Parts: sequence; C-alpha cells; structure tokens
Amino acid sequence: MTPLEAEIRTIIAIDGPIPVDRYMQLCLGHPRHGYYVTRDPLGAAGDFVTAPEVSQMFGELIGAWAATAWQQMGSPPAVRLIEMGPGRGTLMADALRAARAMPEFHAALSAHMVETSPVLCALQEKTLAHTGAPIAWHHGIEEVREGPTIAIANEFVDALPINQFVKDHDGWHMRMVGIMDDELAFVAAPDPMLKQSETDATPVGAILERRHDRPVSLLARRLAQHGGAALIIDYGHMESGFGDTLQAVRGHKFTDPLVDPGEADLTAQVDFAAVAGWAQREGAVTQGPITQSEFLRRLGIEQRAARLKGSATPQQAADIDAALTRLTAPGQMGELFKALAIADPKLGPLPGFDT
Ligand code: SAH
Repeated sequence: MTPLEAEIRTIIAIDGPIPVDRYMQLCLGHPRHGYYVTRDPLGAAGDFVTAPEVSQMFGELIGAWAATAWQQMGSPPAVRLIEMGPGRGTLMADALRAARAMPEFHAALSAHMVETSPVLCALQEKTLAHTGAPIAWHHGIEEVREGPTIAIANEFVDALPINQFVKDHDGWHMRMVGIMDDELAFVAAPDPMLKQSETDATPVGAILERRHDRPVSLLARRLAQHGGAALIIDYGHMESGFGDTLQAVRGHKFTDPLVDPGEADLTAQVDFAAVAGWAQREGAVTQGPITQSEFLRRLGIEQRAARLKGSATPQQAADIDAALTRLTAPGQMGELFKALAIADPKLGPLPGFDT
C-alpha cells in the first residue's frame, strides 16, 4: 500500500467517503506524497510525454504566436508571459528562443511560471538558466502582478480537480471515494445533490463532471481587465457531454485511478465548452476551440519542419517527421487535443484562430 493510500484510508475512516475532487487533489498535490510533488513525471523514462517534449517546434510556434499577440495588443512596453503548469520548462525555453526573432517583444517580456511542484520548479530553473529573460516563480496566478498578459497552459487544465455526479432515480448523487470489501472504491453519496425533476430525462447511471475553474477564471478576468490573450491546449471535447473521463496513467499505460494513489498521473478530459463559459463569465472572449492539428498547421508547423530538415542529418530528419506526425496526426495528438484562445474583447482574431 502506498503511504498516500494509508493516509486516504485514515481520512475516510474518520470523515467517511471523500469527493472525487478531494481524492484528485490528494493524489496530485499532497504536500509529501502527491504525484507532482515527488517526481518529474514527464518524458520517455517517466509516465507520459507532452507536446513540448515531443518537439522544439511546439514551443517555438507558441513563442511566435505570443509575439504576434503582443503586437495585436499594441506592443505594450511591459508584458507578463505567464505559463500555467510549465512541467520541465521546455515550452518556455523554446518560446523564449523563438521570441528573440522579435527583439522588442523579448525586451518587453518577463516570464512567470505558475507551478506547485518543487521538483518541477527546480528543473525549470535549470532549463531556463540561460534564456536571458527575467523569470519569476509563483504558486498561483493571483501572485502574479496585474498588467498586460500573455498566458500559455498546455496540459494544465486536465490536472485541475473534477467532481463527478451520478444519475439515479431520485436525482444526481455526488460520486465519492470510499472503502468497499477493504478496497478503495467509487460510491455514490446517499442523498442526491440535486433532486429528480420532471424535466430531467437523463438516463440512470449517467455521469456528469464539473471542474475547478478558479485558475482559469482568474486568468480570464485579468485579460478582460488588463488586456492580453491566453492559449489553452489540452485533450478534451468541444461540446459538454456525459461520461466518466477520469484516467490514471503510469509508465505510458492506463491504470486504475484507485490503485496506488500518488503513483500515477490523474487527469480528466477538458470540457472546452465549460472552459469557454468560465472565460466569458469574467468578461473575456474566446476563439476556437480548434484541433491541435489545425492550430499547428495554421501556425506553419509544416514549413517549420521543412526548414529544420534542411540542415538535419537523415536520422534527425526522420525524427522531425515522426514528431510532426505525433503532434498533428488524427490517431495521435492532432485531433484529441484542442486549442482555445481566451482574450481581451478588444483584440481581433489571434494567429491560428483567424480564418
Ligand atoms: N505544461 C507542461 C507540463 C504538463 S503536466 C508540458 O506540457 O509538458 C502538468 C503541470 O501542471 C505540471 O507542471 C504540474 O506540476 C502542474 N500543476 C498541476 N496542478 C497545478 C496547480 N494547481 N497549480 C499550478 N501547477 C499545477
């Protein structure tokens, strides 16, 4: 039994079953045993690989995207380039390198890493040691001073905790983690959160997910009040729907979310319609979502790959092709991943969203 499972069993023994969001928070962020607190999960030797770790092209294109967004904002003399959940710092390093192509932008920006994992903060410091840009670290977006902002969040929203609700004859019940037959198990809260109404024809057994919106809502409010744009990229669906999408990944394979808590990455699909709704509620506008494939193509990933291949060895050229496929092919990240822009209503269509 993992140390975290022992702790979760104690909590359940005292408080009773815990909601899914609390379980997720403990698994990912427990101060001693949390998944992100105790390790670097990324890369071939870790549990999963993200787009910036697949290829430098991803971060470079986003750096160019940010430079254009800055110009659309009227080239403010100071802009905060915020990354939420920056992992190893690879995306930021690639973006800052690409931003040098527009020296006025590079001179105007300060980078702000919003990160809760001490292990990953240390890695980010190493990755970004020689970028020549001012960089600061924060635990939450509310710690970053207000002002014109460009923000990036790749595979960040999927790690924000969700709650789940299960439909039964008498209404919607909160899904909890409890203990059955001495194992962690999903159970439904006995009383419905929302009683059955005559107009609700949702079939019994349906599951509804609701995610913590606070980091994204605060970001959207900042953009609406102080100007700027944000790019949210993640795996998920464009329309809200029903279904259990909570998933655990360990060593590049799916595992049971209730087995070995704290040892696997726990995420759930992003409901992009819900994310757009949070942003609009704060007075920001949204553009997209479009598929990652469409977004990267419109930013010129194919031309970028061709240029890189021009000075590459045959092996490097094959790697570039493989990365391009991985990032854009339908069966890989290209279709499942979506890009959504959140922006100050005064900004026009942003690069990639301007058809
Ligand atoms: N964006 C990176 C890493 C994705 S993994 C990439 O694409 O490679 C998720 C990241 O979000 C990790 O850096 C993790 O530590 C961070 N994270 C998770 N929950 C967070 C929270 N509530 N606040 C800030 N960072 C968080």
